[in-house]
Amino acid sequence: METDDPAGSSDGTIICVESLEHAYGDFRAVDGISFAVRRGEIFSFLGPNGAGKSTAINVLITLLALQKGRATIAGYDVTKEPQKVRESIGIVFQDITLDRDMTVWELLEFHGRLYTMPAGERRKRIDELLKLVQLESKRNELSKRLSGGMKRRLEIARGLMTRPKVLFLDEPTIGLDPQTRMRMWEYIKGVNREGTTIFLTTHYMDEADQLSDRISIIDHGKIIITGTSWELKNTLGQDLIYLETDNDKAALGLLKDLPPVRDIKAKTRGFTLMVNEDGTKVLPGIIDTLRNAGIEISTINLKKPSMDDVFVFYTGKEIRDEGQAPARPRFMRAGGR
Ligand code: ADP
Ligand code: MG
Repeated sequence: METDDPAGSSDGTIICVESLEHAYGDFRAVDGISFAVRRGEIFSFLGPNGAGKSTAINVLITLLALQKGRATIAGYDVTKEPQKVRESIGIVFQDITLDRDMTVWELLEFHGRLYTMPAGERRKRIDELLKLVQLESKRNELSKRLSGGMKRRLEIARGLMTRPKVLFLDEPTIGLDPQTRMRMWEYIKGVNREGTTIFLTTHYMDEADQLSDRISIIDHGKIIITGTSWELKNTLGQDLIYLETDNDKAALGLLKDLPPVRDIKAKTRGFTLMVNEDGTKVLPGIIDTLRNAGIEISTINLKKPSMDDVFVFYTGKEIRDEGQAPARPRFMRAGGR
């Protein structure tokens, strides 16, 4: 589509961040993070409240000044070319930033005009989005009359009006009911398929797991690990294989000394192996070993660790669902909308 991309992004990297730091006074909220997002990806920051996700995003979208490190979006340096960066991105904020004296429709229409969308496209997109966030019946309602949840959905609809190169979504489904969240994921995937790179932050395990191509786990301002959901789960080496055979006792004896087997436990029926590699790679060897000894397998089941397991492993804690995050201080948006 675009042919005017500077050379910086021609290698398939659309967001490049090196040693980024951001402090509020003495407190380092973002503590030296480096990562790259590939063009066309859905990339997530997964971390608890206070991890530094919003601070990092606000630097990337040029709402906070970059203090230390380097960041480019679509090849543009956030410090040297903030206007170019802004032209390349779309944003859905964690907080509600809606102008209150416009109706739902006016707000979306205004946003579309601001981004010079053709009239036909605006009409189509507004209809599609009002349906997505189930605000069709509120089309002519003043946004200030909407409930908190409706405002949240309207904010999301507004962020999805245009199709920027990169769309930043800061905790996009926080406080939404499960059905709306799932519809939102499908829509975000659709926007991504149309060519928009997505950078999202979340503290929901399932959101990161199901939506992202790659995930960075972030805590205390630092990225702890980055990878696909599959890769992260495999690094734990905690895949569980459950087996039932016609001779569990003999099977147990044969398998307990195989190199990938870390632990083996007999159950009332069958037994469970914990393997320290990707279980799908270990299974054929296990099957061969048992077959060669003339043991019949009646049941096999492989369970990979969950994203919760991954998170606990790397951060030493679970994320409780705290629901709505506390409102950020207003001054954080200085220079914003
Ligand atoms: P997250 O989005 O992951 O919840 P934030 O980036 O909002 O994390 O916050 C990271 C840390 O920085 C938190 O400890 C938060 O209290 C602190 N913080 C955020 N904004 C400000 C601010 N404007 N002034 C001082 N401290 C802030
Ligand atoms: Mg946040």
